[in-house]
Amino acid sequence: GWRLPVPGYPRLESVASKRAETFGDGIPHGGMYTREELKELVAYCADRGIEVIPEIDVPGHNEALAAAYPEFFCFPKPDMKVRTVAGNSKELVCPQKPEVWKFYAAVFKELKDIFPSKIVHLGGDEAPTELWEKCPLCRQARAGAGMKDEQEQMRDFFARMTSLLAKNGQTPQFWYEGNAGIYHPGETVYAWRQDQARQSIDKTKKAGLNLIMASNEYCYLDFPQIQGQYNWGWMRTTTLRKCYELDPAFGKSPQETGHVRGVHAAAWAEHLPDLNHLLYRVYPRAMAIAEAGWSPMDVRSWDNFRRKVADHRAFVLKRFNYDLERTKENEPPFRWENKK
Ligand SMILES: [Zn+2]
Repeated sequence: GWRLPVPGYPRLESVASKRAETFGDGIPHGGMYTREELKELVAYCADRGIEVIPEIDVPGHNEALAAAYPEFFCFPKPDMKVRTVAGNSKELVCPQKPEVWKFYAAVFKELKDIFPSKIVHLGGDEAPTELWEKCPLCRQARAGAGMKDEQEQMRDFFARMTSLLAKNGQTPQFWYEGNAGIYHPGETVYAWRQDQARQSIDKTKKAGLNLIMASNEYCYLDFPQIQGQYNWGWMRTTTLRKCYELDPAFGKSPQETGHVRGVHAAAWAEHLPDLNHLLYRVYPRAMAIAEAGWSPMDVRSWDNFRRKVADHRAFVLKRFNYDLERTKENEPPFRWENKK
């Protein structure tokens, strides 16, 4: 779903923020932040030394937008519905349509008004270019600009998005897709793909990129914590110890990893039924990722970390009013709870 209100685009709320159900549960789900709620969140985080970086994923992961404004896409499908299951899609916004750029200019302006951060994460991940390849407008543009393929078009698309952000003093970040050529030197990308982080370190260094380590076999906190927990058929079990073992440099030397700027833990919520469950997934593993980010390998100790987790346990349970009983972690599939 689309969660950010943008003035002049009412169908974001009436269409893109709602889906018919979630993973076949038959229960409609919807919701959108208000500007005020987002500003309150930013202020709450700022009080605690946290900078909130918004993400608007382009050109893909955009079926909710396609349901609301099909005309932004290469092959408009007026009957497109907001997705009800996780995953990626072939629908990419069409870079050759002026209304697309007008829309994102409005989006970025709104972000600038709400988020003091100079950074906007543009996603850029999981964007198969089959429809760009077929689109007559895209074909014509590639031929006109002498681009040899859709990857060059992607690089050009990112460059144009970056220029649009620059008008507001904003800079982009991206999920790293393994193809360093589509980004521009100096940009920051996140290594997220399973088992590809080590090679990502070398490729991004060569390309002059900054890297943030988010390799999903260590850093995705929506994945199951314990063997036997429900995994939707594909998520790898990521134990607390596995998270703790993250070495953001993957054993490489400081010379090889000077561009690795930090670590990033992700909690994708579409597989999580409620806030209680989100907290269960995030803690204590977020503590392990934090320590992996702050402490060199030679001062880390699993035994020492376990003692610290025990100290924090009571704090986490109390602070979040967490209900262990309600988690019922071993009863797949989850009973989805409709919050609206
Ligand atoms: Zn197109």
